[in-house]
Amino acid sequence: MNPRVQLAVFTRDLRVADNPMLAQAATAERVVPLFVQDPAITGGRFSNPSRQHLLNAGLADLDHSLRGIGGALVVRRGDPITEIVRLAERVDAEAVHIAADVSSHAQHREQRLAAALAGHRRGLVVHEAVTTVQPAGSITPSGSDHFAVFTPYLRRWLQQPRRDPLPPPRAIRLPDGLPSGRVPSGQQARGWTGGETAARQRVEDWFTDGLDDYHDRHDDLAGDATSKLSPSLHFGFVSPLELVTRAQRHAGPGPEAFVRQLAWRDFHHQVLAARPQAAWQDYRPRGDHWIDDDAAFRAWQAGLTGYPLVDAGMRQLTKSGWMHNRARMIVASFLTKTLYLDWRLGAQHFLDQLVDGDLANNNLNWQWVAGTGNDTRPNRVLNPLRQAKRFDADADYVRRWLPELAAIDDPTMAHQPWLLPAADRRTLRYPEPIIDLTVGRDRFAHGRG
Ligand SMILES: Cc1cc2nc3c(=O)[nH]c(=O)nc-3n(C[C@H](O)[C@H](O)[C@H](O)COP(=O)(O)OP(=O)(O)OC[C@H]3O[C@@H](n4cnc5c(N)ncnc54)[C@H](O)[C@@H]3O)c2cc1C
Repeated sequence: MNPRVQLAVFTRDLRVADNPMLAQAATAERVVPLFVQDPAITGGRFSNPSRQHLLNAGLADLDHSLRGIGGALVVRRGDPITEIVRLAERVDAEAVHIAADVSSHAQHREQRLAAALAGHRRGLVVHEAVTTVQPAGSITPSGSDHFAVFTPYLRRWLQQPRRDPLPPPRAIRLPDGLPSGRVPSGQQARGWTGGETAARQRVEDWFTDGLDDYHDRHDDLAGDATSKLSPSLHFGFVSPLELVTRAQRHAGPGPEAFVRQLAWRDFHHQVLAARPQAAWQDYRPRGDHWIDDDAAFRAWQAGLTGYPLVDAGMRQLTKSGWMHNRARMIVASFLTKTLYLDWRLGAQHFLDQLVDGDLANNNLNWQWVAGTGNDTRPNRVLNPLRQAKRFDADADYVRRWLPELAAIDDPTMAHQPWLLPAADRRTLRYPEPIIDLTVGRDRFAHGRG
């Protein structure tokens, strides 16, 4: 065993800046920066083609950055445990470095890896790179292993000491004669660019032109004035800790509101770390009797429910692979409370479509909206018409995503086309509402009982 050789295993921390895993491995004389393409992830229910493109772009960019400091990305394909152990043996590495992660798949992978490496008398060093607190579940209330309510979590989270962001390693040397394997070529996906370089540019643009007004504009559906950093955070092209420390250096309500959203991200991650089964099982079962209605589900997926705000959100998702947070809440409430369909259907559909699809953020937000999660008001129902008045008053969001309604000038009519005269409605080619909101609300109240 050679103490001068270490393996740096990337997972979803695909960056050289502020990466504690890489920084520590890179103190060794020789380092193998490794990424293992795991068919269980790429071929499973968590992957979709857009995210695969962003991942590939991220790997290509990482390889480029590593070459800039004398290294290269080594890519292997197969079971990560087998591949990592095989490589550790081949280069006789003393230890393997990896970032901790919260899903059951990641937790299981870490346990298997620790056991396999121990069998070969090699160490595993686990680092924190996915959340800003160290580790994700390190802040706990008395008497529990995680926080179930956001506000007390936030209070503690804000007081948590944080290390300074780390610079990229200055130099990396690979062991001699190691073939790097094929690094996938970088690609764009539905207008999104993957990789640390593009993410850093987005961060710069955001801090110069976005952050200060965030508190005012983040709920404005048509304004679209959020950071769009979610895919980069999912793949770790950018460090959440770096974003928080940097935003906290700016005073004002915009940076404060932005930091709060990053706290939500950590909050959901610490819930999933403690309750990995909450990805697909009700966190707080409410005795729901979900309705089985495939036609309603398909109308929702296609953005053809007859409620323009809901449909605009769903079309934004299909066309761009992303959806505004306010719209995510509205469409999720509509599915789980107005149509009263199981939140898991919606969560899976989102994972199939989103460029930022993320098990902790997606599934626990779905549970939050469905009232089976951490919302302290689990039975609230978002009324799409009231939401439209508050967050899309001019109906610009609806007109942007629903070409059928683009020519309707009056915002009230654009949000409620059923109020138009019958003759006008016939030319619209837009469906009548598939459900009456009051009927939906009563059915939900009754079903949840
Ligand atoms: C039903 C539903 C499903 C969602 N699915 C996902 C998902 O798969 N992946 C995902 O990253 N986010 C998800 N979110 C959270 C949120 O909608 C997105 O993070 C946000 O819209 C991304 O846009 P942004 O980067 O411009 O966000 P900003 O408003 O600029 O926020 C900055 C960052 O804070 C974090 N953040 C913001 N809001 C939340 C939140 N409510 N919960 C957790 N983290 C948050 C994200 O990492 C985000 O990138 C979901 C929300 C709902 C209601």
